[in-house]
Amino acid sequence: MLFAWASHSITSGHLAEVTFPIGCQSCTNDRFDLLETVIEWMHDGQSEASVVGLSTRCSECQNEPPVFDQTQHGYDGELGHLRFMEGARASQDLVSMDGSYVRSSKISVAFVLNIPLEELEGAESESGVRVQDQFDWIRVCILGDSGNEWVEVWDCECA
Ligand SMILES: [Zn+2]
Repeated sequence: MLFAWASHSITSGHLAEVTFPIGCQSCTNDRFDLLETVIEWMHDGQSEASVVGLSTRCSECQNEPPVFDQTQHGYDGELGHLRFMEGARASQDLVSMDGSYVRSSKISVAFVLNIPLEELEGAESESGVRVQDQFDWIRVCILGDSGNEWVEVWDCECA
């Protein structure tokens, strides 16, 4: 993962969620455009385009790091469940619910774990993938125009 994991205790049998705002690692700016990652892969002999992730583009320095890629991150990605989805990747502008592009916004990312801790610990001892990297849902919000309300613009169930 790109991001440091915030300290958080995970209690057995309870949902855990860690949310934090992101900043540019190159210039410390905290405003980004959002882009979806689309992969072109073969499914039953047919070419199929699927959205598999999200990247940010820094509005200051144009650095474009990935935030999340379902084929590599989260429960399914880390444990290799989506290795069959291989192909060319492309980026497209993310269109939010109201039909506008997400431009120069403050972004927060939430990692959610719903799978019982015992199951995650079992997978960790078998695969070496840390419990916190086996999140099963990711939610991405932008700070709304009012400046005090986070609005969800993208999510992905990844288990
Ligand atoms: Zn930057």
